[in-house]
Amino acid sequence: MSRLLLVSNRLPVTVKADKDGVSVVRSAGGLATGLRGPHERSGGVWIGWPGDVSRLTQAQRASVEAQLAELRCVPLYLSSSEVNRFYEGYSNRVLWPLCHYLIERMPRQDRDWEAYRKVNERFADLVVRHYQPGDTIWVHDYQLMLVPALLRARLPQARIGYFHHIPFPSSEIFRTLPRRTELVRGLLGADLIGFHTHTYVRHFTSSLMRLVGLETVVDQVAYEGRQVRLGDFPMGIDAQAFENLANEPAVLEDVRVHREQSKGQRLLMGVDRLDYTKGIPQRLLAVQRLLEREPAWRGRLRFVQVAVPSRTAVEDYATYRDKVDELVGRINGIYGSVHNVPVHYLYRSFNERQLAALYRAADVMLVTPIRDGMNLVAKEFCAARPDEDGVLVLSEFAGSADEMGDAVMVNPYDVEGMADALERALEMPEEERRTRMRHLRTRVKEYDVHWWVRSFLDTLQAVPTPPPRVEAAGAEKALTRMREARELLLLLDYDGTLVPFAQRPELAAPDAELLELLRRLTARPGTRVHVVSGRTKETLEEWVGALPVGLHAEHGLWTRMARGEPWKALEGVSTEWKALVRPVLESFAARVSGALIEEKSASLAWHYRQVDRVLGARQARELRMHLGEVFAHGPLEVLPGDMVVEVRARGVNKGRVVGRVTEGMAPGTLVVAIGDDRTDEDLFAALPEGAIAIHAGHKETRAGYRVNSPAEVRQLLSALLAG
Ligand code: UDP
Repeated sequence: MSRLLLVSNRLPVTVKADKDGVSVVRSAGGLATGLRGPHERSGGVWIGWPGDVSRLTQAQRASVEAQLAELRCVPLYLSSSEVNRFYEGYSNRVLWPLCHYLIERMPRQDRDWEAYRKVNERFADLVVRHYQPGDTIWVHDYQLMLVPALLRARLPQARIGYFHHIPFPSSEIFRTLPRRTELVRGLLGADLIGFHTHTYVRHFTSSLMRLVGLETVVDQVAYEGRQVRLGDFPMGIDAQAFENLANEPAVLEDVRVHREQSKGQRLLMGVDRLDYTKGIPQRLLAVQRLLEREPAWRGRLRFVQVAVPSRTAVEDYATYRDKVDELVGRINGIYGSVHNVPVHYLYRSFNERQLAALYRAADVMLVTPIRDGMNLVAKEFCAARPDEDGVLVLSEFAGSADEMGDAVMVNPYDVEGMADALERALEMPEEERRTRMRHLRTRVKEYDVHWWVRSFLDTLQAVPTPPPRVEAAGAEKALTRMREARELLLLLDYDGTLVPFAQRPELAAPDAELLELLRRLTARPGTRVHVVSGRTKETLEEWVGALPVGLHAEHGLWTRMARGEPWKALEGVSTEWKALVRPVLESFAARVSGALIEEKSASLAWHYRQVDRVLGARQARELRMHLGEVFAHGPLEVLPGDMVVEVRARGVNKGRVVGRVTEGMAPGTLVVAIGDDRTDEDLFAALPEGAIAIHAGHKETRAGYRVNSPAEVRQLLSALLAG
């Protein structure tokens, strides 16, 4: 196993200071437990914030560091302003409500973005310092969404995984965020991006399409020359540990006491962080509604709601707390008696042993968040029921709902429906309760946190290591060779190489600067220029035909070797298929607005640059599939391009030009080809030994040199003239 570098906002420890000194205690949570094994076995480190240590003395800090080192933890200290802005500000005030669909809770101004970005950079710096070649890096959660890309830029060879522990919202919600694209690109630095459910993966893929124009094929996205994998890995809990706890004699004694106290009553239970995503008010209203409409239950229900204090520095949480307090008071005021109240509200936290007792004592467990990435309480409740009894009422908006079909499902926004579900749960016959609980337990025990860690890491390990990337070099060296060559043969692509892409193909006509540049190149001693394009011969003739250059239209189907010479077509190219393909393209163009068809002598193209991105990509995929099925083995090829699906006669490609233009070439001539897309790769592949290929852009390429844009191509050619 390779060394594992775990990276999360919080280290899995708590620093406790008292009069006897300072101690570092491991956290009990599921994530910490699940990762402990691989963390220790692999010999790696865990990088994160140890919590607030600002009040510690110098000596106490040293002691904390020594204890952390024992646990293979590396601390990243956050200043109070960083906690305030990066953690509470951007992570918890912006990303948390956004990912839980609560955009009205987001602040109107994006003040803390800079702090978020800077702390992400600090995390990446620290990871880079600890990284050794061969390590596997696993970044956790929404506080660190920029870290994967920051790491990729500095460690191109590293194996990087990211897991998103909260929901990933619909792209309609996500795209409201001003920094949406930066965050998505941040995640794309990873080799594997994991979510709890398939729904979140789907939402993420639509954001990729909408925001970055990237298409996901099955579970992969091609991005900057790499394949990024996406997957759903529903997180589990340490089920065995909960089951063991629930069987401990001391816990069973607590269970007895809880039951004793609720004698003659049915025990309903809720256990949540006091967070506005947990649906506590709606749940209270459902209990109230039940008592209101079914007087028979009055005095016979005891609802214990544990609410763990959380994010108390964020105002929304304080307001929410007041709201819950008020509701509890109201219900108890209406339905309580001198002896008894229906709602027992405990604003405090419990340890796992105490929780196990509460879980095991409950008749009905209410897990009804309005939105929750997974919800582990639901799983813990089942694990803590070796007696195979108890009913789980679960919100369909919790990630765990996908796996826990045997729970009684509720829509937490439907108070009446929840009251129905509560009643159903309370009255459920024992046989049915047991069958459901047995099924739930089987799943929770099998797909536990160890399974989760293993399946994520196995998938990450299986990602093929990219071959050491031979970065296409900057073009300075190419320029030197071009200047030194006695004879130079330039093969230049047009669109995307000499001119940038335009909204419509006919708008990309050459500007005066380009025409002058080409003219001067043709006048340079020992230099011959050919334009090799996918355009029609008519267009090339009109746009650059007046210059003494060779022209090659329709990817080499037509050639005009020199000014004044006739156009000649490649021989033996069939075009009868066009009559059959044209109506297909027309029917696709009719379905979406903005699509257009371009016809050339041996090809037809369906352009969708002006179509809505998502719709265009979907239609293009369908069109490709349709053509592939109907015309398989025909004399044509279907080529996906940059916002275009092109159908052309088989065997016509830009590589065919090379033989024609190099025939009879003076020995020692340097051939230089410049292009930007897949069709130019055919040209590059056919170049003679010693030739230079230059890719304009950032796609995957076989070219040995790279420039960034058409503007840089022009600069390079101008520099050649100047030298
Ligand atoms: N928990 C706890 N003490 C408490 C209440 C809850 O340690 O008093 C734990 C609980 O066992 C569970 C976690 O807090 O593991 C809550 O996880 P969940 O996924 O349900 O919600 P989150 O808090 O992550 O939104």
